[in-house]
Amino acid sequence: MDAGLQKGEGFSCYIQSKGDILGRYNGPVCRLCRREGTKLFLKGTRCFTEKCAIDRRSYPPGQHGQARLRASEYRTQLREKQKLKRIYGLMERQFRRYFAKAEREKGVTGKNLLVLLERRLDNVVYRLGFSSSRKQGRMLVRQNHFSVNGRTVNIPSSLVDVNDMIEVKEGSRGLLAIQHALEGMRPVPSWLQLERAGYKGSVLSQPVKEEIELPVNEQLVVELYSR
Ligand code: SF4
Repeated sequence: MDAGLQKGEGFSCYIQSKGDILGRYNGPVCRLCRREGTKLFLKGTRCFTEKCAIDRRSYPPGQHGQARLRASEYRTQLREKQKLKRIYGLMERQFRRYFAKAEREKGVTGKNLLVLLERRLDNVVYRLGFSSSRKQGRMLVRQNHFSVNGRTVNIPSSLVDVNDMIEVKEGSRGLLAIQHALEGMRPVPSWLQLERAGYKGSVLSQPVKEEIELPVNEQLVVELYSR
């Protein structure tokens, strides 16, 4: 067991001890997409409408947003890392911890990193369609609306495992946020199975890299940290 991630009690998921007490970016999220020059889908349904800031102003924010920046290998690698962090709503310290764990695991570090991030409970809630964004998923998890294998889990960074059952608690099923999210159903990845009527979903297998469709080249993140 490594220092950063601990085995949770009573359910087969892991808890990142300090991960969710750390500070978080609370500014306007569309700026983040504009900075990266691509849609990071941080605002739920708005991201699919014409109100999306990337569709209207696809240049970086700020006074010098439209100035030309000199391309460099470092800059490209840095931007890929920032994208990944922003998609999952992580701060640098947390992100580094995931990277360190990914490095220690067998296999390709970049792939391991994506798989670890996908296994976060707030991401799984989002992937199953119970929230319209990862940020909302994190909030709902924190507010005790979900259980894993029958036990309430309110730690968004908990890592789910194969055969885990994630369920919206009975008293939370009428929540507008959950109802709205379920209405705007997105395809559920094949490593998860949703039982919509039962407000639950299970983990069938480890996430598959090919299905983690993100606008990020994870290999460049590995190269950045290997400098
Ligand atoms: Fe990004 Fe969504 Fe804002 Fe568009 S609406 S800029 S995709 S957060």
